[in-house]
Amino acid sequence: MLECVLRDNPFYKQKYSDLLIPLAGLALRDLDALPLTDKAELASDQEANPPYGTNLTRPLVEYTRVHQTSGTTGTPLRWLDTPESWQWWLDCWVEVYEAAGVGPDDRIFIPFSFGPFIGFWTAFEAGPQVGAITIPAGGLTSEQRVEKLFEYDATVVVCTPTYALRLAQIARDTGRDLAASSVRVTIHAGEPGASLPNVKARIEEAWGARCVDHAGATEAGAWGYGCGHADHMHINESAFIAEVIDPESLEPAPVGPGDRQEGELVLTNLGRIGSPVIRYRTGDLVEMSREPCPCGRPTAWLRGGVLGRIDQMVTVRGINVYPSAIENIVRAHGAIDEYEAHVRTEREMADLLLLVEVTDSDPAAVAKALEEDVHGRLQLRPRVEIVSSGSLPRYELKSQRFRGITDDRTTGKG
Ligand SMILES: [Zn+2]
Repeated sequence: MLECVLRDNPFYKQKYSDLLIPLAGLALRDLDALPLTDKAELASDQEANPPYGTNLTRPLVEYTRVHQTSGTTGTPLRWLDTPESWQWWLDCWVEVYEAAGVGPDDRIFIPFSFGPFIGFWTAFEAGPQVGAITIPAGGLTSEQRVEKLFEYDATVVVCTPTYALRLAQIARDTGRDLAASSVRVTIHAGEPGASLPNVKARIEEAWGARCVDHAGATEAGAWGYGCGHADHMHINESAFIAEVIDPESLEPAPVGPGDRQEGELVLTNLGRIGSPVIRYRTGDLVEMSREPCPCGRPTAWLRGGVLGRIDQMVTVRGINVYPSAIENIVRAHGAIDEYEAHVRTEREMADLLLLVEVTDSDPAAVAKALEEDVHGRLQLRPRVEIVSSGSLPRYELKSQRFRGITDDRTTGKG
């Protein structure tokens, strides 16, 4: 990959032009001699060289696909693929399906509006490659999607974990029981959460199906998948090189007991030669382990999947509080349909406000139980406020329930 990139890719040729190391014979162990790549420099390259930037190893005429990042901050990055790099993506998704036990007997239902976001396009196109009937379910309301998945006798559903819970609420409200459908596996992408034990349990209960996590990024590719063992999400190390760095010092994160590293995930993809990322800062906070996984796969795995975004982490009295920690606690409370978290820090003290929609007849008791639970687990006493049912936003993709560090309280209370 490097050979082609160093010869033909203007972005990386420029980026590496000042390096004093000989790149031609670079070995894998020398990888950390290369500088990290981050999203900001790719964005400014696209701004300076619109619309596609210069991270293109091939002539423009050879590219056939374009997508863009779905992040909620900044200008989206546009990303091109050649047929070769697109097939590499699909091969990574085939790994996800195979790890989830999906094959020719399956009917994969993909309830996603097929816009410029890459994730579900690749899930969709990889479906036929494992021999499954692949059902497009874009352009429908959520109610229609619930009906369609029964009508088509779907066995697999691919969507965000948030949307899986949303469909479950709609099914409940319309008198449908998803657990009575043929769906036996749900695969989740687009946002983290499906590796969190309580989120997973809640989805599995609502759907009567096995819940499998997957992680990917527009710039990097489909890099992770759940193996079915506990909260483990493996990294596809046949297609990616994974490193974990300290996001402050940018040095490799210290290796703790059990060969464990906590910090920001850095990825190098190996098969997307047309538009690669080399030592790319994903912005994802992870805990990576190389302890053997009981599933037998020899690759590194992440505990709890992606824990959140680096910029969403809040430290309270020495304890790192991630969005995933809050998500996992809230999802253990079955009477809470939807929530939103607002965190404000001031002089080392964090103030956590949780807005919750409750279906129980005694919402105050549910709020109290949640408050105790958060306090017990995070040593942080939240304020829990009940809001009216349906007043919080619902998301098909990239939920924004965690309002990070705000300077003042903006509840959007309904
Ligand atoms: Zn495993």
